[in-house]
Amino acid sequence: MSQLQRIAIALSQLQQEQIFLTPQQQHYLERVLRLRKGDRFIAMDGQGKWWLAEFAGEKAQILESLTVQTELPVSITLMVALPKGNGFDDVVRICTELGVAFIAPVMSDRTLLNPSPQKLERWLRIAQEAAEQSERSFVPTILEPVSFSTSLATGTATHRYICEARGSYPHLREAINQVSTQVSTTSEIIIATGPEGGWTQKEVEYAIDAGFQPVSLGRRILRAVTAPIVALSIVAAELESVTFN
Ligand code: SAH
Repeated sequence: MSQLQRIAIALSQLQQEQIFLTPQQQHYLERVLRLRKGDRFIAMDGQGKWWLAEFAGEKAQILESLTVQTELPVSITLMVALPKGNGFDDVVRICTELGVAFIAPVMSDRTLLNPSPQKLERWLRIAQEAAEQSERSFVPTILEPVSFSTSLATGTATHRYICEARGSYPHLREAINQVSTQVSTTSEIIIATGPEGGWTQKEVEYAIDAGFQPVSLGRRILRAVTAPIVALSIVAAELESVTFN
């Protein structure tokens, strides 16, 4: 199955076992992926459903629905203070490969960037491509950028961590290890990482008040782009090794 090309579709495109393809999707399937009528591909709705489909020009015929098990056992949200430049593109791409469920870009006190609306579209496209590449059954949701304080107030996660580069906090791995036998498919983990200049002390205090536990990612100071990738790798490794044991 893995050699088949995958594209994301909207549920509204699906009617009576047929997918009504948009002109862009037709172009992509025909000109970019070089599919001919009768060739098969995988359609994914970004919500966990995959179908084996047969390309027929403007439409595609659904042949069967597929089961995939490429998702992490627990929903993980990364709350990431926007780094400068295009650094967030890498965060979105790599964290999608690693299995993130939600990415919440936030503007913190020391964030230098105010993102344009086009950025969100770009990140969504990057997430979609990375999800296809990594054979994920979900395309992660990328939330609209909001201020750090708004983001803190709206979260519902059962387990909350804020990565802080300085100070002697428990390692994230240790913190997750302690709860890894309690977490279930209904648990949600949220991990916050700061911008180049780090979190302000006030932000860390607000986060603690909102139930976040400060954690360390090791003894070295990681770049703002590296920190969420490392945090997610640690959590994914802990959770998946528990599941596979
Ligand atoms: N300039 C800041 C560091 C910012 S690093 C300073 O000198 O203190 C950017 C973000 O990555 C931090 O806010 C933190 O969330 C995360 N981070 C980087 N290294 C880390 C570490 N060793 N442990 C925990 N978090 C880290």
